Amino acid sequence: MSGTSESFAMLTIRDSLPNGLLDCRASQIGDVLGGPTLIELGGQREAPLFVSILIHGNEDVGLGAIQRVLKARLEQALPRSLMLFIGNVAAAAQGQRRLDGQPDYNRIWPGAVDDHETPDAQMMAQLHDRVVARRAFAAIDLHNNTGRNPHYSVVCSKSPSAIGLASLFTDRAVLFRGLPGTQTASFSNLVPAMTAECGKPRSAENERAAAAFVNRVLELDHLPTEPELREPLQLFHTLGVVRVRPEITLGFGDAGAELNLDPHLDRLNFMQVLPDRVLGHTQHPAPIEVIDEDGHDVAESFFSLTNGELRLRREVTPAMFTVDERIVRQDCLGYLMETLDHL
Ligand SMILES: [Zn+2]
Repeated sequence: MSGTSESFAMLTIRDSLPNGLLDCRASQIGDVLGGPTLIELGGQREAPLFVSILIHGNEDVGLGAIQRVLKARLEQALPRSLMLFIGNVAAAAQGQRRLDGQPDYNRIWPGAVDDHETPDAQMMAQLHDRVVARRAFAAIDLHNNTGRNPHYSVVCSKSPSAIGLASLFTDRAVLFRGLPGTQTASFSNLVPAMTAECGKPRSAENERAAAAFVNRVLELDHLPTEPELREPLQLFHTLGVVRVRPEITLGFGDAGAELNLDPHLDRLNFMQVLPDRVLGHTQHPAPIEVIDEDGHDVAESFFSLTNGELRLRREVTPAMFTVDERIVRQDCLGYLMETLDHL
């Protein structure tokens, strides 16, 4: 390969690995790449696997995973072509999900409601077109969680190929249609697509799990669509995203905050939680909102407030609940789910 590169509005496209990429930490990626970069590597099978990493700059699992995958294959051809997108390089340098003033890089892919005119969104649209035009084999987006969560997949479609792809990562998947503008949502009717949520950042164990998944997909001739070819998948469905109203002060185990939530709330992730469970304390009449897939606030059907106690009204399975206030403010407190049938 020639090592040429071409630059568009913000996206740099390369056809070889830049020096230092396989050994740098996420905080050093700005020195190696300078900005968002797509690296296209040829392989034995032509239809490329598209992998995006560091779409959230503080979620370093994808970098560690891809370094493991590529280092082990330096002396050999890849079994399949790879399109590797390294997303929010500037935020990664600061260890942040996104920088103040930046859009969330997982909310501006084609189909997004907001921000679709910004240079960042145009970059994602350009990238999206290129992945689709190359008839990608699959699209994988590697993320970490800030709260305690088991590994799980997020899919936006119940298509056999998306379910088959997800089943290669782990036996838990969340079916989630409600958030336009994510990488996975943008590809869902075009390419088998999934998000791999790989637990907390800065974990070699999580990086190994993500690397094993990428290797598995790279080596496949076709995705397992028949149930007997894959592990049974426990499928969850998202009921709503939980947000704390921005004007309300928030604490976790802080009695001085207007909304004082259980400091161990993230231990409930992927557990079936029974009605009446107390999640926090507040004197505010409506401290949180729960937005369902149609965009309606359905907080009252999930939470009750009596004598200053915030309680669940019905059985739910929380996911992605975090006890990091910055993430709550930038994104959300977490999601409420229910179990669908085993697939
Ligand atoms: Zn993320």
